[in-house]
Amino acid sequence: MKLSTKLIHAGVEPDPTTGAIMTPIYQTSTYVQSAPGVNKGYEYARSQNPTRFALESALAHIENGKHGLCFGSGVAATDAVLRLLVPGDEVIAANDMYGGTYRLFTKIFEKMGIKFHFVNMQDASAIRPYINKKTKLIWAETPTNPLMNIVDIAALAKVGRAEAGREILLCVDNTFASPYLQNPLDLGADIVLHSATKYLGGHSDVIHGCLVMNSDELREKLYFIQKSCGAVPGPQDCFLVLRGIKTLHVRMDRHCLNGEAIAHFLREHSKVGKVYWCGFPDHPGYGVASKQMRGFGGMMSFTLKDDSVEAAKKLLSSTHVFALAESLGGVESLINHPASMTHASIPREERLKNGLSDSLIRLSVGIEDVDDLKEDLRQAIG
Ligand SMILES: *Cc1c(COP(=O)(O)O)cnc(C)c1O
Repeated sequence: MKLSTKLIHAGVEPDPTTGAIMTPIYQTSTYVQSAPGVNKGYEYARSQNPTRFALESALAHIENGKHGLCFGSGVAATDAVLRLLVPGDEVIAANDMYGGTYRLFTKIFEKMGIKFHFVNMQDASAIRPYINKKTKLIWAETPTNPLMNIVDIAALAKVGRAEAGREILLCVDNTFASPYLQNPLDLGADIVLHSATKYLGGHSDVIHGCLVMNSDELREKLYFIQKSCGAVPGPQDCFLVLRGIKTLHVRMDRHCLNGEAIAHFLREHSKVGKVYWCGFPDHPGYGVASKQMRGFGGMMSFTLKDDSVEAAKKLLSSTHVFALAESLGGVESLINHPASMTHASIPREERLKNGLSDSLIRLSVGIEDVDDLKEDLRQAIG
């Protein structure tokens, strides 16, 4: 089955009691048993919920995986993966990633005795010196947030396996690309993570996260964590993501088209400095991106030639169609200042070292008419 068809049909069966074409929102906490221990496979809704199960099945299908697991947020899904580790274990993580992931690693899990190495993974072999007997997890994000760097997932999986001679888990945060543009499991990753808050939900109306994997053993461990730690989403939120997925392909096609047009518009503008978008043939990750992605998406960052924070802040307050807000991946265009908003939890020296300057501006290009988007940026930059 082709991806567009899968996005609409995967995981969803007509409701057995009524034939309802959309999966009902099973807003229940518990299930009645006919005798102690005799039930229909549903006991308590933290462990089992039919709306969540339908979404988990849909997510597994569209990421070409066997199992899906849903969480109350993307960060809760990340937290569940880290709970596979024990004190003394080590993680190799990308040095350019979502600020909330960095905060969870350094402020919560470092305290619990997990050691993190933050490495520039644009060259996969750069992780080699950090691999040792204690390495249990490699954490990558591609394209990265907000600098749009590209990591070669297949190469990373290969280095991890070859060096260790044993399984080091590779988890890829696929939030920026979405399953429509990239499928990390096909490239050798063990776990794919999504903040479904973004492109999967697609309408800026839900906070949600998920994991997809192939290994039965890994699924059992993560399901145990999901029900034991309890960061599960409610059925209404699962329904919203299930509905969002049905139009992912149509939205992503438009995000890609608008993204390409806006990236070129910015690059040609006389007042714009550097534009970070992985679809430019001179982008250092273009070769790998063309190979592992089916499109370049609608995320990009840029600086002005006047590289002052004041100039950036003035622009950020001058758009009318682009809304100044955190988050991304919704139908509406957003503009954001990573240094003071999404990435404020990363210490300034760390940010600057990795190329995230105080004047960087990030765009999530939505699916509005591209002429209106260009006009909005033109007047704001002007
Ligand atoms: C937003 C985001 C997250 C965190 O997801 P939440 O749903 O906000 O908890 C993780 N990774 C990336 C790349 C994100 O953009």
